[in-house]
Amino acid sequence: MFIDSHCHLDFPDLAGKLDALLENMQTNQVTHALCVGVNLENFPRVRALAESHPNLFASVGVHPDYENTAEPEVEQLLELTNHAKVVALGETGLDYFRLKGDLEWQRERFRRHIRAARQCGKPLIIHTRSAAEDTLRIMKEEGADKVGGVMHCFTESWEIARRALDLNFYISFSGIVTFKNAAIIKEVAKKVPADRMLIETDSPYLAPVPHRGETNQPAFVRHVAEEIARLRETDLAEIAKATTNNFFNLFKVA
Ligand SMILES: [Zn+2]
Ligand SMILES: [Zn+2]
Repeated sequence: MFIDSHCHLDFPDLAGKLDALLENMQTNQVTHALCVGVNLENFPRVRALAESHPNLFASVGVHPDYENTAEPEVEQLLELTNHAKVVALGETGLDYFRLKGDLEWQRERFRRHIRAARQCGKPLIIHTRSAAEDTLRIMKEEGADKVGGVMHCFTESWEIARRALDLNFYISFSGIVTFKNAAIIKEVAKKVPADRMLIETDSPYLAPVPHRGETNQPAFVRHVAEEIARLRETDLAEIAKATTNNFFNLFKVA
């Protein structure tokens, strides 16, 4: 069995297709999926998905790409995570690729998520793009290693992966690992310890080979696992077992 550790089933491309998505998951032995929040406005829909389906979970957070959205208070994040199906804080982090200028607000927002995670003891889902050094620095400064979490949709070097692993974080691979030009990420997928890796789709984005260009969906996470098995010269079943166990260990759900 496989688990999609990061998807956005509430986004317009996927909302309304839920029955088909769940059916495709079942056909492909994708047993669970984690629906990740990106802002507070849409969070009730993310939570509702988790509440109405035993195999869906939710997280709450405000993504660094959302500039004009309600800024989350630590108290507010704590209130929203106090729910059996809300298993993580995020996605949060830094993105210096999409937005330019003074991004101090992104760093402050990121710090609040880490503080909330440390208070409630739930892990972090971290998004980082063109901002690895600042991301790791803030993780260290705020003691993110005390609570751990996952570096989602990992696109950095092995050196960055190693430093995130040292901070108690898991590394999650998306469909990007199946892309021909993703040599650096393929290298990381070969080296990361088996007990610290996760798989995800980040649906509706980043559909893996052989579905590139299509709308991504949790069922396609199987292709991510297949590519990792190929790279590590191991059985698909081994990757399925490891990533599933890792998911349950990190998010403390059974
Ligand atoms: Zn992300
Ligand atoms: Zn995402």
